[in-house]
Amino acid sequence: MALETTLILFKPDAVAKNLVGTVLSRYEQAGFKVRGLKMMKLSDEILAEHYSHIADKPFFPDVRGFMQETPVIALALEGDDVISKVRDLLGPTDSKAAAAGTIRGDFGDKEGDAKMRNVCHASDSPEAAEAELKRFFGEGEIF
Ligand code: ADP
Repeated sequence: MALETTLILFKPDAVAKNLVGTVLSRYEQAGFKVRGLKMMKLSDEILAEHYSHIADKPFFPDVRGFMQETPVIALALEGDDVISKVRDLLGPTDSKAAAAGTIRGDFGDKEGDAKMRNVCHASDSPEAAEAELKRFFGEGEIF
């Protein structure tokens, strides 16, 4: 077991559908601790960096547009093995393939844009978490 911190983004679908508190309570009920929380608008630059692994995909402009529909809420969440455990709580990228009981299965968009409107981003490895926490939180913003 490793004590880790992961970076979560509540995406614009979660913000627009008033799901932030419901989803955050799932993370807290799983025993994880809030270490940083902020609302922010995402620029083209930060999205190009954050989504560099999909920048050449045909759907990237739609993802960028979606991520700019509303400000997002960035969360630094700490706990034992939190990085993989939060990915399990979320379920797979495509909400349609996500089981009931997972966050994406319960709250993700099941039609049309299902792969895009999937409630939260969460870091997928310790290396990604380190880079992403630095990308979204400044010095002194994680406690
Ligand atoms: P995850 O967020 O589950 O780690 P990826 O890093 O592969 O998934 O993709 C980043 C984001 O891009 C996804 O969360 C989703 O919003 C969007 N996305 C991924 N694949 C598709 C797709 N085929 N069509 C539309 N949007 C997609």
